[in-house]
Amino acid sequence: MTIIEPGCTIGVLGGGQLGRMLTLEAKRMGYRVITLDPEPDAPCGQVADAQIVAPYDDREAVVQLGGRSAVVTYEFENVPAASVQWLEAEGRRVCPSSAILAITQNRWREKTFLADLGLGVPRFRAIASVEDGERAAREIGFPAVLKMVCGGYDGKGQTLVRTPEEAQQTLRRWGISESASAQPRAIWEQWVPFVKEVSMIGVRDERGMILTYPLVENTHVDSILDTSLVPARVAPEVEDEARRIVRAIGEHLGIVGVYCVEMFLLGDGHLLVNEIAPRPHNSGHYTLDACVVSQFENHVRAICGLPIVPPQLRSPAVMVNILGDGSGHRLLGVEQVLEDPRVRLHLYGKREARSKRKMGHVTILVEDVSEALGLAHRVRQQLRWG
Ligand code: AMP
Repeated sequence: MTIIEPGCTIGVLGGGQLGRMLTLEAKRMGYRVITLDPEPDAPCGQVADAQIVAPYDDREAVVQLGGRSAVVTYEFENVPAASVQWLEAEGRRVCPSSAILAITQNRWREKTFLADLGLGVPRFRAIASVEDGERAAREIGFPAVLKMVCGGYDGKGQTLVRTPEEAQQTLRRWGISESASAQPRAIWEQWVPFVKEVSMIGVRDERGMILTYPLVENTHVDSILDTSLVPARVAPEVEDEARRIVRAIGEHLGIVGVYCVEMFLLGDGHLLVNEIAPRPHNSGHYTLDACVVSQFENHVRAICGLPIVPPQLRSPAVMVNILGDGSGHRLLGVEQVLEDPRVRLHLYGKREARSKRKMGHVTILVEDVSEALGLAHRVRQQLRWG
């Protein structure tokens, strides 16, 4: 077991809010942090010891990041797997490995991996040509969700289609033509009439120990996470089943670090896996305020070879994302929100509050769930852009 002691440097590929929260926890534990992100003054760069400003596919810059770090991790799974491979080829420690990234950043490989494990997933077909689309329409039917194999997140690169015409238009827009490409370019997925969306954070260390956080209930608006509520209001058997799924995925990926599994809960109590994120996740932000050890701290512990610890929930919590809406860049109402000691405000230091951009979040710690949801509603009305 490699131990990376406090005082050493952690490299973070990607400089967004996940990297920022990871950095704040790592710094508290005595680590130094260097990040690489193409945007100067990135949220993570603002709190890290240094930021390399370069594209993720700039080999020289990526190799420099590796050379200055005792371990490299990533906070964004759309960094090219090749960049992680360059670091591995140089003998650098990277957690999670490029092999895991290669699975989770390709929706077709990810779904196939899950199905091969015998886990429930929405019915899906690989699409490499228009003909594949026609076959999927016959075999799976409508409504369906078409998802680009690579590059999609927060609902980007996916479309709900209800008719063959809509499907054709989408495939054409994505450049999928009569002549089949060598690799699937999209997947055709059954639209799932779920009753709830849930997720669970897991953490696995180098020795193979896996710990899981409580099940979270998520609400999305326009495919972007809006609210997370923990503990999820589900039967204990559902939470047990989710835990089994999360453990199976962690074990078979052989991941070192934190990961998140997003799932759909069906009316009959079954769970279908939607997605795996090989990194801390938005639906785990509540752990900073509501758990003894946050997802970010357990990630640092796992990648540095330190003991990972059980994530005890100190209080039920509701997390609400604060998104930009394009109407201004100043967040108004902060003084009102901060008057309530049960509300914890996190802002990511982004200057431009572009529409639907994740700017921050609040975590509300209240024993009674309906009271917490009421407070969340109030906070949402108090905060506005101007
Ligand atoms: P994803 O980018 O795959 O996480 O999808 C973003 C959101 O779109 C999910 O959280 C769901 O709300 C919705 N969604 C994705 N796939 C499906 C599906 N097969 N059936 C129903 N809703 C879906």
